[in-house]
Amino acid sequence: MKRFVGILSGTITIASLYIFGNLFFFDSRQSKISRLDSDYVSDSAKYHLSEAIQIKTVSYDDPDLIDSSEFVKFNNFLQLTYPTVFQNTEYHLFGTFSYLIKWKGSDSSLKPIVLMSHFDVVPALEENRSEWKYPPFSGAIKDGVIWGRGAIDDKVGVIGILEAVQTLMKSGFQPKRTVYMAFGHDEEINGLHGANAMAHYLKQQGVEAEFVLDEGGYITQGLVPGMEKDVALVGTTEKGFLTVELSTDIEGGHASMPKKESAISVLTKAVNDVVDNPFPSYISPPLKDFIDFVGPEMPFGLRTVFANSTLLEPVLMSVYEKSPSSNALVRTTIAPTIINAGMKSNVLPKKAHAVLNIRILPGETVDYVFESIKKKVNNEEVKLRILNKSEAAPISDAYSDSFKLLDQSIKETFGDIVVSPYIMIAASDSRHYSEISQNILRFCPFHLNKENLDTIHGENERIGVVEFENSIRFYQQLIKNTTN
Ligand SMILES: [Zn+2]
Repeated sequence: MKRFVGILSGTITIASLYIFGNLFFFDSRQSKISRLDSDYVSDSAKYHLSEAIQIKTVSYDDPDLIDSSEFVKFNNFLQLTYPTVFQNTEYHLFGTFSYLIKWKGSDSSLKPIVLMSHFDVVPALEENRSEWKYPPFSGAIKDGVIWGRGAIDDKVGVIGILEAVQTLMKSGFQPKRTVYMAFGHDEEINGLHGANAMAHYLKQQGVEAEFVLDEGGYITQGLVPGMEKDVALVGTTEKGFLTVELSTDIEGGHASMPKKESAISVLTKAVNDVVDNPFPSYISPPLKDFIDFVGPEMPFGLRTVFANSTLLEPVLMSVYEKSPSSNALVRTTIAPTIINAGMKSNVLPKKAHAVLNIRILPGETVDYVFESIKKKVNNEEVKLRILNKSEAAPISDAYSDSFKLLDQSIKETFGDIVVSPYIMIAASDSRHYSEISQNILRFCPFHLNKENLDTIHGENERIGVVEFENSIRFYQQLIKNTTN
């Protein structure tokens, strides 16, 4: 007994030493950078964003619904509003409407940077129109807020970058590094004619960018559990996707004499077999980066857990799996989105089909995931077909000079906040740029909180005027910092 107690207390002592040792060495990764005085921003900037919102550059999956005259209008609007930018740069159009603008730097030995965003928007559904406080394409400026579709996704990026560049040009600023601006017109429908074509062109030109900055994470307020401070999340990678169709075609017949198996029962079993066997959850390298950057800033309890993430991985996973948004960070997720069978109440359908929307964790491949899905279904009567796919993005180094430069620019603009890498769950146009740069960073320079979170692709999308002006300041600061 004595011996047992001895072993037990010895084990507890070693475990405590290990846990608190990890905690002791769990140092903050936050740079100490102070906020700078606010840069000048033109008073007309807010009206420009408002005008941009009023042009209905809506992307639809069905190309027949797209109104190209609105895109022409948007292109003309940019040329008219930013004459200084267009006079001092070279530009090319891709897929008719996407702009690639080159602001030549003074030192051609330095790698250029690419600032991306997109000016197409998702539709504002007719049935939800009454929920908008101001009409979605009004661009209303009321009580210091600019309202409308595209206010934060992502006309704020296009207008923010152009305002910043025009202001810098007018002040006589000359960048050392070449600055490319890449504004897509079809991001919401995969970016094949815009971003993809622009990235190909840059590749052909032999361009290797120091970094590429696209939309992505935000300055989150109260959205990282356990964190009181604001956290600027910079996407260092993004999940891949895979859309798989499951179909079956078996003998039908009359509903009065049903066979044991029908197209419906076979297909629903297949869908359930996939969904009931989720992909494993684990701490992938980009999630480890997030833990290492955010963890040391947490209150004691959570800091201890994060400092021991390897030892406590099962505990952490059980916490992450609880909410859909954090569950999406720890595994490849599967969502059945379409299921179809049957036409008549007394006829057994011959055919049934379903669609699975799968989001792939960085580090896993489309092939691996597709083979796993096949194994989960394991039924020759069910055919699987890939409808579309994209590999998860490579992981950018969270300790690179580019990440540090972005971190500096964020803190110089927004003050004392936590900056952390994270895994972007949604897909962005930046995935087309993997071959142009090793440093692809995804960040939107404004705040996201419980109030405006659901307005992205939802109702009442809006941005505060001051918030928008700070976005412009951020882009100015970033461009200036690439020159120092
Ligand atoms: Zn977007």
